[in-house]
Amino acid sequence: MSVMNAPEREQFEYIEKCRGLIGEWSRKKGRNICYCVVTFGCQMNARDSEKLKGILEETGCVSAPEDEADILLFNTCTVRDNADRKVYGRLGTLKEVKNSRPDMVIGVCGCMTQEKTAAEKIKKTCPHVDIIFGTHNVHTLAKLLYRHLSEHTLTVDIWDEAREVAEALPVRRKYPFKSGVNISFGCNNFCTYCIVPYVRGRERSRSAADILTEVKRLSEEGVVEIMLLGQNVNSYGQDLPDDGQKMSFHELIRAVADTEGIERVRFMTSHPKDMSDELIDAIAAHPKICNHVHLPLQSGSSRLLKDMNRRYDKERYLELVGKLREKIPDVAITTDIIVGYPGETDEDNEETLDVIRKACFDNAFTFQYSKRTGTPAAAREDQIPREVVTRRFNEVLSLVQEMSRKRAALWEGKTLPVLVEEVNEKEEGFVTGRLENNMSVHFKGDASLIGSFVNVVLTECKGFYYIGEMK
Ligand code: SF4
Repeated sequence: MSVMNAPEREQFEYIEKCRGLIGEWSRKKGRNICYCVVTFGCQMNARDSEKLKGILEETGCVSAPEDEADILLFNTCTVRDNADRKVYGRLGTLKEVKNSRPDMVIGVCGCMTQEKTAAEKIKKTCPHVDIIFGTHNVHTLAKLLYRHLSEHTLTVDIWDEAREVAEALPVRRKYPFKSGVNISFGCNNFCTYCIVPYVRGRERSRSAADILTEVKRLSEEGVVEIMLLGQNVNSYGQDLPDDGQKMSFHELIRAVADTEGIERVRFMTSHPKDMSDELIDAIAAHPKICNHVHLPLQSGSSRLLKDMNRRYDKERYLELVGKLREKIPDVAITTDIIVGYPGETDEDNEETLDVIRKACFDNAFTFQYSKRTGTPAAAREDQIPREVVTRRFNEVLSLVQEMSRKRAALWEGKTLPVLVEEVNEKEEGFVTGRLENNMSVHFKGDASLIGSFVNVVLTECKGFYYIGEMK
């Protein structure tokens, strides 16, 4: 991507213009202008936040804690109702802060703002918010910031769909040695409980050439671990033109793993209906593709899966798990489970418990069903009473924990490579890293190890993490 396209050039021009205004503001204050981006939700949002941070740093702002920020952005999530409530709660408490620091800039972006009535609601209930934008125009932050800083008015810009590609903009990665790489945006699946296709739009795959160029560049910058990101990575490429360059996901992941300097490749998230044998073979065969598959189950009841429009059933799911465990004996399988979907019976919940027992998940993110306005499931009249959901949820959670403890205990005493990520803030003299299966390990070490692979004996399994000793 050596030649910039028009949207990229436009944004760089706005970054330059912002730099002038931020410089003036900074001179008036006699200090740097500070920013903070608060991220809610998934890995896709985390990646968008890295792009927002990259743009803000390029304008001359410096990163700071939330309470010191002159520019404070909330990158929101709307997958669950309580995520929305959290954002409104946080925004509410900022009213007083803004009264005492009127030059502060507060922005809200992300999935929540893409909901039909959200911008109106924010304007009405949080008049101290200055900038509102959506998921399709994250790259235009500099333009919006410039407009607000020069006109001092509320700036709202929400796009219904993606209009342009601007990939060459700056990014501020959380870790210098690992990075997410978007391979597709949006989703075509319309699971009946999910708001993602409405707020992130239809699935759009990036070209394999652009993805591989980005991976190569990241590797040259010292990145050793790549996480390929998409709402459904398994259907990657299906929307691309048949131009001879198109790749399917298993071809793409092999090409990424073959990139010089890349030591680990992960991916998130897989849809069971699109998980191919070729992908399982690629994970089994390629030493750099991590033996970890996050495969959302949602429910173990075939009746509910049909109702959710998931397009697989209990048997197909268990068949996939069987194949994964057979071809990749040390694979870690993690999942998402929704408890209390409309119409769910005790028998349906028993089916879910049965899959948890049979699949013996390494970990599972268990959620109580949350109504999302605008989705078909939210309009149903057979919503499950809260106390029933809580009872079933507790049953599911305790079985999930029992199974994951069992799985984790399998590795105790083994020596495995760990990519060291950070100094452990709770235990002095310790660092924390990750195994190939994505579990955390805490062991004695110092900051000089960050970003490198070390062999660690897993001396004690603590259920969801290990204590270890460097070899
Ligand atoms: S696959 Fe289903 S649950 Fe996942 S993002 Fe798409 S619609 Fe939502």
